[in-house]
Amino acid sequence: MPATKTRDENFLKANNARHLWHPMTHPADHHKNPPTIVTAAEGVRITDIDGHQVVDGVGGLWNVNLGYSCQPVKDAISAQLDTLPYYSIFRGTSNDKVIELAEELKDFFAPDGLSRAFYTSGGGDSVETALRLARQYHKIKGEPGRVKFLSLKKGYHGTHFGGASVNGNANFRTMYEPLLPGCFHLTAPYPYRNPFNETDPAKLAQLILAELEDEIAFQGAGTIAAFIMEPILGAGGVIPPHESFMPGVAEICRRNGILLIADEVITAFGRTGAWSGSRLWGLKPDFMATAKAITNGYFPFGALMIADHVAEVFEKDETGKAAIGHGYTYSGHPVGAAAALACLAETRRLNVAENAAARGRELHEGLLALQAKYDAIGDVRGGHGLMLALELVSDRKTKAAPDKAVAAKIQTAAYQAGAMIRVSGPNIILSPPLVLTSADAQVILSALDAG
Ligand code: PLP
Repeated sequence: MPATKTRDENFLKANNARHLWHPMTHPADHHKNPPTIVTAAEGVRITDIDGHQVVDGVGGLWNVNLGYSCQPVKDAISAQLDTLPYYSIFRGTSNDKVIELAEELKDFFAPDGLSRAFYTSGGGDSVETALRLARQYHKIKGEPGRVKFLSLKKGYHGTHFGGASVNGNANFRTMYEPLLPGCFHLTAPYPYRNPFNETDPAKLAQLILAELEDEIAFQGAGTIAAFIMEPILGAGGVIPPHESFMPGVAEICRRNGILLIADEVITAFGRTGAWSGSRLWGLKPDFMATAKAITNGYFPFGALMIADHVAEVFEKDETGKAAIGHGYTYSGHPVGAAAALACLAETRRLNVAENAAARGRELHEGLLALQAKYDAIGDVRGGHGLMLALELVSDRKTKAAPDKAVAAKIQTAAYQAGAMIRVSGPNIILSPPLVLTSADAQVILSALDAG
């Protein structure tokens, strides 16, 4: 008989270091810097194993839009577990919840004209599905040579091989190469740093659009399947492009027969202050990849929305090429779909997009005030809902990156002062729940000030 284990604080901390590898973390790091063990959460606050409670300035991982006490989602999950805890929707079967959910997604969150849904288990799966269906679309249409993908440097599209291949950050690529051949990355619309030294966002947008035209001419339009981008780059450091940029990309893509994939894994469901990033920029992509806040983070789930004109190419095919040889065991999981239905109903009832816009403005102003106070803050980015970032520098003039320890020190101090914040390279990223109050926003700002 194994000895009874005492799951006390010390046991958990020691065993975390011994038995767990964490995503995006060096395995030896847990020994040097033990993670915060989160054991409970309520409203917009999380509580750790030592009983310390803080405002979650990270919103889980950009996904807990409605906070941790969203009872309708919890009830929907529980009720669905009682009724139908699982059944697949592979050929020949469906379930009531996924059918209802497709209607909700098309009517309220996707731009008009994206009325088909393909369900997945998360963001990486939604991206992978879009990349694969984009290639299949061109094959059905008789253009099998369209296989390449274009994307942006600093873009983040998950860590599947497809997503990593279009990913624009070497940290997620180098150790896993070779990735998919035929993926090309354009300059990010990042006025603070770019090879053109262009600080004006509108002019920078035009320069990158010209670069896109040039790249398409160089590669040959007939070799390119799709362009993928986030309406606001998230994990790359919260980089909102100028309003002309994404519509410009869409126009160039349409003119060249290239499909546009909007990776809305973060930006959908109110985070940007609009119901989706595509709606924010007033455009209709050919695919819209979602996940994360679709279930408020309470259940792993995602959906890829597909434009009608793309769907019709598949649906009218009589050759058999359009049979979809792709899908996941948990595609259309009834519990995930039930969670999503409840979550999206609450998302609309509470009008969280409006609150995200208002609280986002407050946080943005607060971050600009901190920048005026501290030289270490080189850039402040935000202005579209609750996606914000501070970029730290060691010298404002040269924009030299700070020592890694600086951001870590700020994170620890902010946590002690009452807020969880996220550090990604030189950036401090804020993506709190969209139900944040003004008082909660002030807690985050004061905690940052303490850092
Ligand atoms: N796409 C974007 C824009 C993301 O931000 C993420 C995750 O943060 C993903 C894709 C991958 O999603 P997941 O981690 O659910 O696979």
